[in-house]
Amino acid sequence: MGVRHGFTCTNCEYTCEVSGGKDRGMRSRTDTFVCKDCKIVQDIAINKEGADDKTINELCCEKCKGNNLELWGENIGRLSKPCPKCNATMKMTRPMNVMWD
Ligand SMILES: [Zn+2]
Ligand SMILES: [Zn+2]
Repeated sequence: MGVRHGFTCTNCEYTCEVSGGKDRGMRSRTDTFVCKDCKIVQDIAINKEGADDKTINELCCEKCKGNNLELWGENIGRLSKPCPKCNATMKMTRPMNVMWD
């Protein structure tokens, strides 16, 4: 994993720590998805070394293993995102938390 950011909802208690979009780690690339069943945000690896990107239909939620996934706030930018719980705005709170695997 590369840079991760803390996001906090301005309305409810939900927080998450994710890259917030496409990211490149040592061995895989990730993107940030919402599971519409669990209503959680998570980074999911979209490819492994040397392999093609997976399509969204080939990915699964790490919690429920389903694939009711959608890219998180794809066209909104990195600083504010929709909360998966209540649809209010989530704001980036810790922009410089660097964690390398
Ligand atoms: Zn919320
Ligand atoms: Zn899920």
